[in-house]
Amino acid sequence: MPQLTTTATILRRSDFRESSRIVTVVTREHGRIAGLAKGAHRPDSPFLGRIDFLNEVRATFSPDRGGLRLLVRAELIHERRHLRQPERFVAASHLAQLADFAMPDGRPDPLAYDLLAGGLTLLERCPTARLPRVVLGLELRLLDHLGALPDLDHCSECGAELGNRAYRNDGSLAFFCRDHAEAPRQAVAPDVLGLLRWLRAAPGREWPHGHDDAPTRLAAGLPGAWLRAATELRPRWRPLIFA
Ligand SMILES: [Zn+2]
Repeated sequence: MPQLTTTATILRRSDFRESSRIVTVVTREHGRIAGLAKGAHRPDSPFLGRIDFLNEVRATFSPDRGGLRLLVRAELIHERRHLRQPERFVAASHLAQLADFAMPDGRPDPLAYDLLAGGLTLLERCPTARLPRVVLGLELRLLDHLGALPDLDHCSECGAELGNRAYRNDGSLAFFCRDHAEAPRQAVAPDVLGLLRWLRAAPGREWPHGHDDAPTRLAAGLPGAWLRAATELRPRWRPLIFA
């Protein structure tokens, strides 16, 4: 069985014995892979400065023999240095936590990988003030991919067009028309609805520009609830992003 060489994004690292590290990466074609980087802590290690969090590398793994593979080699493709800035780091860490959930071991998910890689590039480049909005856009894309994004345009009861009037009912994640809103009616603010629809429809590269930014923090609660329901994750970083 041959070695495996593939483009990978570093998702996690943990220490192993004195001088080694276990590196967990995600890849487009092979999903999540863990490998032992022997001697990665030594000052002369060829892994030094390469297997840092969220870097993109060309990684070579030993053949799969059932146990933990060896990370034989890692060549740096893209060092995501901008993500070390605190606000960007927090946003990127949140995205990494979501990607970790979406890409379980041995189950390739090219679309989720593209969302992670493209999302990290956006988080590196966008103005700091727009980070929360870009994160919202990425969450909506992931929810859609997981089949967990509610219909933003139609009543989930009767299918009627919602226009600018959407309501929520307790205990449901969906939107409802006025006729199917339970008392007391909980209207979704029209500017929140507008922002969510715009993020869903616009290409990611447009997220940092255009649209009114005011409703971003107000809008964040809905994708937050949808994500909790779909993933049962406790998002560590999310409260910091939308504080
Ligand atoms: Zn209805």
